[in-house]
Amino acid sequence: MSYQSVDPYTGKLLKSFPLHTDEEMQAALSRADARFRSFGTLAERTAMLKRAASLMIERREELAALITAEMGKRIHESRDEVSLSAAILEYYAEHASGFLAKRTLDSTVGEAWVEFEPIGVLVGVEPWNYPYYQLVRFVGPNIALGNTILMKHAPGVPQCALAFEKILIDAGAPDGSYINLFLSNEQVSTLIEDPRVQGIALTGSEKAGESLASQAGKQLKKSTMELGGNDAFIVLEDFDPKLAASFAVLGRMTNAGQACVGSKRFIAVDAIADEFLDEVLRLLAGFVPGDPTDEATTLAPMSSKLAQTRLLDQVQTAIANGAKVLMGGIAPDGPGAFMLPTVLTDVAPSNPAFRQEFFGPVVLFFRAKDEQEALAIANDSPFGLGGSICTADPERAKRLASQLQSGMVFLNFSALTTPELPFGGVKRSGFGRELSSFGIEEFANKKMICIVDPAKLTNMVS
Ligand code: NAP
Repeated sequence: MSYQSVDPYTGKLLKSFPLHTDEEMQAALSRADARFRSFGTLAERTAMLKRAASLMIERREELAALITAEMGKRIHESRDEVSLSAAILEYYAEHASGFLAKRTLDSTVGEAWVEFEPIGVLVGVEPWNYPYYQLVRFVGPNIALGNTILMKHAPGVPQCALAFEKILIDAGAPDGSYINLFLSNEQVSTLIEDPRVQGIALTGSEKAGESLASQAGKQLKKSTMELGGNDAFIVLEDFDPKLAASFAVLGRMTNAGQACVGSKRFIAVDAIADEFLDEVLRLLAGFVPGDPTDEATTLAPMSSKLAQTRLLDQVQTAIANGAKVLMGGIAPDGPGAFMLPTVLTDVAPSNPAFRQEFFGPVVLFFRAKDEQEALAIANDSPFGLGGSICTADPERAKRLASQLQSGMVFLNFSALTTPELPFGGVKRSGFGRELSSFGIEEFANKKMICIVDPAKLTNMVS
């Protein structure tokens, strides 16, 4: 096995990297463990994050070009990802001291408070779809907190993995605080079993989640699981269907449909369903495959030929089980890993597609007779990551948001991400949160300290 950069637009192998050996991995673990005990002050760590954020902006063109070369993202989306990643590092540099400040507790037995302490070496396992953003969501808060990190990135984005490690080194990250490793899954298992490792964070598929969460559980180690989604985009009769269609298509086509929190199931109530669907089809027809380095391109390739083949198979299985194709369903010939925008209808609950995540430009379209049926379809999913509801009535929006079984709800827009909004899901979308103040608490020892006042105990012991 090796980590390989293959350009999904041309199919050309750009670079190949061998796995780190077991000895190299063990040496990295020892360095990370040693660094954990002397990882500087909070002010030093956040200053380092601030420098890393500036370096990301300085090197934006170079970093963005690597994303586009390795996983095919359209170049301007790649630039946006670099800017967002820098903003996340900046956010934790700015806010970590507030988030980690001692928290006083109101106690009946004396003076009590909680202090936030790091727990040790963490292992990160990350996917290729946002090669820097996925890293910083975990790295920003944990470096600020004082945990050290061994990072196993996805095998398709090794140049991005190295470029990000270099940013941190150039920003002054002390030796052992962040180490990129090209590892096999078996090597990751060895790390999880090591007593020096205290936590594991995965962003990836359900299958990876099952494996890593069970390994972490067996070792009684803290984990966070940021897994897949099958987000509903609900449109009610009081909202402009054309505007809703533009938001839904934006939510579906971001990153060529390869976003965990993309809008994957469009659910429209009967009164506006036809108008909404017509506009969706019209907008999707405007996405044309092209070179992702060209600013004018509207549809990028998928991340790899393997991803394209898997998605095509999934669509074929959906059709074999009764789904109808309103648009697309095919991949153009050629070396590029393209999938044409696809809309499937008549996906019955008995169709395996009904409960699956389609990780590419494929829409599942549903009609509902009213808001309650729309919600019922939305909640009939093993996943619970995000979801959107479009309605002109703010009170109705809030009421329905509380009934959607998901970790995030976006009202009158498709899903988005910013540093201050917590990100994560429920059900088979995983557990734990990244970003915001919630993200920095995941791998913190929330240590309670209490100066017990015996005079206050009388009532308790009588
Ligand atoms: P994936 O196949 O699960 O891979 C993700 C990472 O996990 C890779 O580094 C992969 O390495 C590693 N991995 C998989 N199985 C492993 C195991 N048993 N032990 C150790 N490492 C393992 O997922 P993907 O196809 O790259 O990413 C797409 C998925 O991620 C989608 O389901 C998407 O929804 C989800 N995602 C979720 C979020 C979120 O925040 N909730 C964000 C982005 C993406 P190898 O390839 O070497 O196995």
